Amino acid sequence: MERKIVKTIKGVAASDGDGVQLTRIIGSPELDMLDPFLMLDSFASDNPGDYIGGFPEHPHRGFETVTYMIAGKMRHKDNAGHEGMIEAGGVQWMTAGRGILHSEMPEQTEGLLHGFQLWVNLPAKDKMLPPAYQEFKASEIPDEVFDGGSVRVISGVTDAGTLGAVQGTATNPLYLDVTLNGVFKQKIPASHNGFFYVIDGEIAGVSAGHVGILGDGDTVALRGDGRFLLIAGARLNEPVARGGPFVMNTRKELLQAFDDYRSGRF
Ligand code: MN
Repeated sequence: MERKIVKTIKGVAASDGDGVQLTRIIGSPELDMLDPFLMLDSFASDNPGDYIGGFPEHPHRGFETVTYMIAGKMRHKDNAGHEGMIEAGGVQWMTAGRGILHSEMPEQTEGLLHGFQLWVNLPAKDKMLPPAYQEFKASEIPDEVFDGGSVRVISGVTDAGTLGAVQGTATNPLYLDVTLNGVFKQKIPASHNGFFYVIDGEIAGVSAGHVGILGDGDTVALRGDGRFLLIAGARLNEPVARGGPFVMNTRKELLQAFDDYRSGRF
């Protein structure tokens, strides 16, 4: 069954970290979450004042953060000694698990910075796993050309069989960056929630800066001229207790996370 667009929503202006100006696409009053996705932010500016403050040291527990850069550079550094740079076209899929403290800072003082951060929830059984990273440079992300466009396969598998760089994550996510002038068809398991975010142009009647939420089904066909992210993941159907940078299943677990953080147990 083909998935239809059941709702379109415009991202809202927000500020996070040390004054970073961004567009909140998921995690806003109009779209609190789309199980398993807790948040999607887009940051896109050529004004350093909008991004230079970055995201100084902060904790995470209980979910995954996925940073995908389209332009510019972001340096990340955590309290376990893990450090590196996410450059244009690269992705970092970080499984925070039981917890990390890290910083995410733009490594440039001028020019365009454009990227996305997606928060993917973890199932209860995985929330307290040790932190883990999957990191890929632009050249390591498969790029498939099809009749009508091309698709960068960050995670999941295309109908033509191109396997994404990021594998083995809990919610079996699909994360595609599609450049299109025609039609793009993609299977999405019925177990998944899915959406697309239009970066440029117009896709299936949805304009840039808007998200199209997909209804039930197991396949989607999107026609248009532009660039978009197509993202889907398995519904967890578990209770969500959310407090700032911690996402657990119960209030008790959330309070424990704050206590562990304040007591230096991250
Ligand atoms: Mn972070």
